Amino acid sequence: MKLEELRPLVGVGRQLYVETYGCQMNVSDSEILVSIMQDEGYRYTENIAEADVILVNTCSIRDNAEQRIWGRLNEFRRYKKARKNLVVGVVGCMAERLREELLNDGVVDIVAGPDAYRDMPRLVAMAIGGSHGVNVELSQEETYGDIRPVRLDKNGVNAFISIMRGCNNFCAYCVVPYTRGRERSRDPYTIVREAKELFEAGYRDVTLLGQNVNSYSWKPEDGGEVDFPDLVAMVADVSPLLRVRFATSHPKDLSDKLIDVMASLPNVCRAVHLPAQSGSNRMLTAMNRKYTREWYLGRLAAIRRKMPDCAISTDLIAGFCGETEEDHAQTLLLMREVGYDSAYMFKYSQRPGTQAARHMEDDIPEDVKTARLNEIIELQNELSLASNRRDMGKCFEVLVEGASRRSCKQLCGRTSQNKMVVFDAADGIKAGDYIVVKITDCTLATLFGEIVK
Ligand code: SF4
Repeated sequence: MKLEELRPLVGVGRQLYVETYGCQMNVSDSEILVSIMQDEGYRYTENIAEADVILVNTCSIRDNAEQRIWGRLNEFRRYKKARKNLVVGVVGCMAERLREELLNDGVVDIVAGPDAYRDMPRLVAMAIGGSHGVNVELSQEETYGDIRPVRLDKNGVNAFISIMRGCNNFCAYCVVPYTRGRERSRDPYTIVREAKELFEAGYRDVTLLGQNVNSYSWKPEDGGEVDFPDLVAMVADVSPLLRVRFATSHPKDLSDKLIDVMASLPNVCRAVHLPAQSGSNRMLTAMNRKYTREWYLGRLAAIRRKMPDCAISTDLIAGFCGETEEDHAQTLLLMREVGYDSAYMFKYSQRPGTQAARHMEDDIPEDVKTARLNEIIELQNELSLASNRRDMGKCFEVLVEGASRRSCKQLCGRTSQNKMVVFDAADGIKAGDYIVVKITDCTLATLFGEIVK
């Protein structure tokens, strides 16, 4: 027996509850965290009322995300009153940013940054012993490559695989390089192993995750390099029945090689999320995005030349520092020119410590930001509906994900373009199956259809 098998596991007999906020990276991180804690004997529970340890995986990307989490921590006071030994931990981006404030709040026992999850059993043990558990060290190497994440999703069809951590881009508005540290790529062979294990467990759709997946680069000591297109091809090779997606791409790094690899592999999904943030070159420079509107449109043209059926989605920010009506009009024009299938749209929210917070004035009044955001949302609703209407009468291969939310007599699934399709259930069709559906109706968010085969 190995020495570590003889040592007492601190978690035995204790239940762990994890609440996750923010992006897909955080969902993936929570799965890593649960895996680390289970190895230490903790049992994962979905019932907060029976938890001995509550961990909140946090997001700092916008002020309202942080405000929600502060509100939630406040609610935990009553759990703490009811259970004297309850341990509450804040992990992730907010922990990295607000360590002192969190510890002074009186509810929080543990503060752990995104690179400190391996240390969590020790931090919990410290909290149980009556002290604060704190580790907000950022690492140059940590990728959690050897950890087998515990899947917390419900459908057993879609899974995230984290392929890299951190970001080197320092977009002026973004807090991520400060909360998640420098870019590190994970060993590709551990990524492929994870994809294989997921496929064998019945998963059929994996999303390769990173802050900027296009700059993925693995350089082993004996020379050579695996870049992102190579990695996509390696994961796609696991099985033609495994769909491969990725997020997020930075337009400056989206290479012809990646487009060629995607076009040559039918199981790499026909969907690219390419955040534009603004349609104005003046704003793109101020945001330190390192590309122009013309470069961006050139990349989309290259994608559409090779994959005319590829869906394009984006992120847009309304009311960044110094944005004029003309800049805003450029964003609306870009949206029309591209005809986005979908978009994530936000008002600019100043984040302390970022380049914008240090050197620029957050000078667009709140009501102007709101009005511009509403115009962007209204236009995107129009574009999403037009995109879905173009699909009417066409047939798509759909990967079934399970029962539809509206009716147990209907199933739902996703096209390669990442659009949700609802259709009547039929005997023998279950989650994880591929079927062909003809689209007969749509709303701006959903396609409706009938099974063809
Ligand atoms: S690419 Fe820019 S927006 Fe994305 S995480 Fe990095 S700094 Fe933030």
